[in-house]
Amino acid sequence: MSLPPSGREESLVRPHYDDVVRAAERLEGVAHRAPVHTSRTANERTRAELFFKCENFQRGGAFKFRGAYNAVAALSSEQRRRGIVTYSSGNHAQALAYAGKLQGVEATIIMPNDAPEMKVAATRGYGGHVQFYDRYSEDREEIGRRLAADRGLALIPPYDHPDVIAGQGTSARELIESVGQLDILIAPLGGGGLLAGSAIAAKHLSPSVKVIGVEPEAGNDGVQSFRKGEVVHIPPPKSIADGAIVTHLGYHNFPIIQDLVDDIVTVSDAQLIEAMRFFAERMKMVVEPTGCLGAAAALGNIYPVEGKRVGVILSGGNVDIARFCALLAA
Ligand SMILES: *Cc1c(COP(=O)(O)O)cnc(C)c1O
Repeated sequence: MSLPPSGREESLVRPHYDDVVRAAERLEGVAHRAPVHTSRTANERTRAELFFKCENFQRGGAFKFRGAYNAVAALSSEQRRRGIVTYSSGNHAQALAYAGKLQGVEATIIMPNDAPEMKVAATRGYGGHVQFYDRYSEDREEIGRRLAADRGLALIPPYDHPDVIAGQGTSARELIESVGQLDILIAPLGGGGLLAGSAIAAKHLSPSVKVIGVEPEAGNDGVQSFRKGEVVHIPPPKSIADGAIVTHLGYHNFPIIQDLVDDIVTVSDAQLIEAMRFFAERMKMVVEPTGCLGAAAALGNIYPVEGKRVGVILSGGNVDIARFCALLAA
């Protein structure tokens, strides 16, 4: 097994199905039970039965709300009093600020000083305190750990955390509860919070299911790690899937992925755009580029699905509408 680099050897806690159930109890009446949509066109095109779990309709516009809310709910009253901190410029920033606001816990979000104004405003709109850093000269994880140590804040990173993983697993749990046994479950892969949580839930509820992760072609650290049997680090990748351009999988996440995930495949930016267009034209939905990773693999037959019952997690819908139009026009 691969161990975190020195300075990061806090004990690895592995979440199990019970933790997903506890997360679901905490999220009851708080998170939306995101709808499951189907498309006859998609089924005809793939000769499969596809069930899209639409986290683009989740609170905050992505599944991230599940893990963030669960992680805040799991804190002690003393930790809640002191507050929480994270580093993210994406969906986790907004999700954690929102989860903190709903539970009366002050959230500090470390964001790059060149983060899109819209994302900064959204995070502040949920009551988050934004602290900027320079991503060319400073290490956000280091700043997060220092703030946590100096101010006694609880650090809740975007994916490398057992309560975040357990919370993300509630989406796959709901999907299988709604549609029954699956042959295949396909989920986007960034740092591995969604994929690890989904695998824990899916393998418990539908033991013969194959769980497949999908990452951007330009940043295939997940494939490399999966093949090599240890966490592989890569330089910051360039892809339109901005929610999945991580440099390495989480250390809590990797052993779960190694044990429970059956394969990891990659898709190109062009395939993501094709999937975005499909959802906009045929299903009247805005799905962000990262949210299309799993769907692009199924629709593009990157992972063979013919004749199977397939769950596909559409992980989020947060994309600036001008950017959305520009991507589709290109
Ligand atoms: C964060 C995110 C992902 C990747 O999730 P991980 O838990 O980091 O693997 C996928 N899709 C969207 C929309 C996201 O915000």
